[in-house]
Amino acid sequence: MDKDLSYGDDYKYIPATSVNSGSGIEVLSDIYCYTIQIVNICFVKEQGTDNFILIDAGMPQSADKIIAITEERFGKNSRPKAMILTHGHFDHVGAAVDLVKHWNIPVYAHKLELPYLTGKLNYPEPDPSVEGGVIAKAASIFPNESIDLGDSVMELPADGSVPEMPGWKWIHTPGHSPGHISLFRDTDRFLIAGDAFITVKQDSLYKVMIQNREVHGPPRYFTTDWNAAKKSVQMLEALKPAIAVTGHGEPMYEEELAEGLEKLVDTFDQTAVPDFGRYVDRNQH
Ligand SMILES: [Zn+2]
Ligand SMILES: [Zn+2]
Repeated sequence: MDKDLSYGDDYKYIPATSVNSGSGIEVLSDIYCYTIQIVNICFVKEQGTDNFILIDAGMPQSADKIIAITEERFGKNSRPKAMILTHGHFDHVGAAVDLVKHWNIPVYAHKLELPYLTGKLNYPEPDPSVEGGVIAKAASIFPNESIDLGDSVMELPADGSVPEMPGWKWIHTPGHSPGHISLFRDTDRFLIAGDAFITVKQDSLYKVMIQNREVHGPPRYFTTDWNAAKKSVQMLEALKPAIAVTGHGEPMYEEELAEGLEKLVDTFDQTAVPDFGRYVDRNQH
């Protein structure tokens, strides 16, 4: 295994929290989601076996916590078969390097996300000037430099299958990041959407008291391609998911999810795309 795995130079603990931090939800008997400060990680168990997979890797400096949760749920010294990354933003790969070193497991991501996971390309700076209140303003402290997972990170199979996750397919849902993916299981229409859309209002993301469940567009400060982001939401809505787990916010079900997604698609230009910001070109919409 590559010994030179590293985080970016701007990697640091981000003091942000939400009302759900530190709590887990068994969404289904084989799907367990846990909130690390403000972001969700997800364990998917393969039915009839002891195998499980970890989706995303939480906030910076959360590796000990993630290992503890894993062992609590799956047993001492248990480890996932692999890690799947919806994308490489700091709040989704925060513990990735430590986890790979500790567990010695492969990581899979979309081909277009690999440069940001192998130290080759940094994400554009988060945009603190984007319309979006306090959170957007605070975004300038968010790390945007690439982590380096070396040879541990590999491209997802081109046929849409997901390693170690039979019955699931990955779907390219770019916009929030170039190689953003979502995961979908046909049998029960279960969607793991990453940040393609989220179920909490960005402004309340970091609030401890209020986190109303509501379908919203991707977090604004990092989203650079709003046309692609819109197409991705349309694509996910067309799948008619019955349950969705997103990178931020609580799981959503059935009608509440369907109505929220439909509304987001219908009003995307007005509600999701910011009125102003570095990565907004109003003429494109
Ligand atoms: Zn993100
Ligand atoms: Zn995120």
